[in-house]
Amino acid sequence: MDKINKYKLLHKLEGEMEKDGSLPLKKVANKLVFGSGNTNAEILCIGEGPGRNEDIEGLPFVGQAGKLLDKLLLLAGLERKQVFITNVVHHRPPENRDPLPNEISAYGKYLDLIIKIIDPKVIITLGRFSMAKFLPNVFISGVHGKKYKVNWNGKEIIVIPMYHPAASLRNGNVLALEKDDFLQLKEKLVKMKEEEKSKLPESEQMNLV
Ligand code: URA
Repeated sequence: MDKINKYKLLHKLEGEMEKDGSLPLKKVANKLVFGSGNTNAEILCIGEGPGRNEDIEGLPFVGQAGKLLDKLLLLAGLERKQVFITNVVHHRPPENRDPLPNEISAYGKYLDLIIKIIDPKVIITLGRFSMAKFLPNVFISGVHGKKYKVNWNGKEIIVIPMYHPAASLRNGNVLALEKDDFLQLKEKLVKMKEEEKSKLPESEQMNLV
């Protein structure tokens, strides 16, 4: 799918979500936080749900956790404008409580469509709720920073579970682990690019930078 079509489809989907009165947190939230970033990104970051600042601005990760996320992405050699960022639920849960199973499933059908349209090569999950979508029955302490090949609706996607930046803001030990995970992510991404190149016929490899 070309760049313009992805943008248009995401824009249309955002409009549909705005109108969907069945979304369980709509009545208690201020703004829909659909997601933002590069609609043509190869990397999709999925957080948990909007907090107070995101609810005011209608954009994901704009508060303290977002500032940390920007720094972590830089450790991996990524700028925010290179990735697309969204959440498991797209309206703020009251008092920032955990999203409930019925909420995760109600917003999940839109998240699935976002994933389908972006069609990322890599998904970085931030926190346990987005991790559980792809890697059920694991603990984040055992899997953080590792690379998993997941069959997602018939397509192979690389999923890399990371701690939620808000957890790192609360706990210095988690922050140290998370910084290291993002530093190693840089190496993983370089390796993936090299593997991708080596799969191409030689004539095409020469054209790649
Ligand atoms: N935390 C999240 O999980 N998502 C946001 O958008 C902001 C904070």
